[in-house]
Amino acid sequence: MQIPTTQTVALVRELGGKVEFKTDYPVPVPGKREVLAKILYTGVCQSDLHTKSGTAASANGTPITQIKLPHVGGHEGVGRIVALGPDCGLGIKVGQLVGIRFGSRVCRRCEFCLAGTEQYCLNSTNHLHHEDGSFQEYIALDADYLTQLPDDVNPAEIGPVLCAGLTAYKVSIISLFLHGLTNFQAVLNTQIKPGNWLVVVGAGGGLGHLAVQYAKAHGAQVIGVDAGASKREFVLRMGATEFIDFTTTDPVARVHEITGLGAHAVVVTAGSAGAFAHACEMLRVGGTLSCVGIPAGRPALQTPICTIVIKGLRITGNLVGSLKECMEAVELVRRGIVKPEIKVRNFQELPAVYEEMEKGDISGRIVLKIAQE
Ligand SMILES: [Zn+2]
Ligand SMILES: [Zn+2]
Repeated sequence: MQIPTTQTVALVRELGGKVEFKTDYPVPVPGKREVLAKILYTGVCQSDLHTKSGTAASANGTPITQIKLPHVGGHEGVGRIVALGPDCGLGIKVGQLVGIRFGSRVCRRCEFCLAGTEQYCLNSTNHLHHEDGSFQEYIALDADYLTQLPDDVNPAEIGPVLCAGLTAYKVSIISLFLHGLTNFQAVLNTQIKPGNWLVVVGAGGGLGHLAVQYAKAHGAQVIGVDAGASKREFVLRMGATEFIDFTTTDPVARVHEITGLGAHAVVVTAGSAGAFAHACEMLRVGGTLSCVGIPAGRPALQTPICTIVIKGLRITGNLVGSLKECMEAVELVRRGIVKPEIKVRNFQELPAVYEEMEKGDISGRIVLKIAQE
């Protein structure tokens, strides 16, 4: 196969600046223990939008400003290996389907890598802040930290699983597992006590609609919270038992009406501070709040400490997941148990997609078609 020396990329020259399409950007040459992949599809994640706008929050709430410029976003990519650099080792072949995820390289030596939670690696790099991501036609990937996808998946559908889906998979498992440690073995055997109530705030979004499905797959009854009639239809179609339109109904009161004692777990995928403020009030005794969306700045939960103590609540945060957890999330999609709702658009429509995301009226995930096979 002929590999060109230049390619089209969606470039952002300065944070807060526009997306421009550059057609003579160099195609990377795979180095030692690297593969070159041709990118077929990529999802567009909220954090791509926040990063290019310069509003992505760091752990202390200040904006992340140390970002490689010019910036090429995209971390829900699916591509095919077209060339191998030296020493890639066994089991990696030209033609294989691979994922382009948030994490690009990890050290394998730090405490977090050794614990199998390499998304927190102290020496990691990622496709958002350090390396060009999947908004380009060709990418060089670390062969030793490669997301090797099964052959029998739809490449258009898998991209959103690599960030949104992985996070959704992980939070649904964790929140359900945390409801009583006795459930731990049950979760490992995927035999969660059926009927546990899990609320997904932002259920119609890219991450939310996958959280609804993963939670259902683990036996939970899901209450979706979002806004508007089309989101209602969509979220119920994804398998939620109940839907609450927060623009017309108070979600806290309604969750208690539905569940009696309150929800076993609440997952907030929305990126607005308001969605988090009273989320704990939906929980029953021993319930778990899983924070997933990252609102800009430093908004805080408005939960009284007495409530946390007396109701024995757990509050957890979730930043994507490990490669192993990613493969588990992909497997449930491969088996048809979870199905990402995608709309495929052309690569050049990325600026329009960002505008739609800012308005927040997208159901499911938009996927860009990048290069022809
Ligand atoms: Zn993401
Ligand atoms: Zn590490």
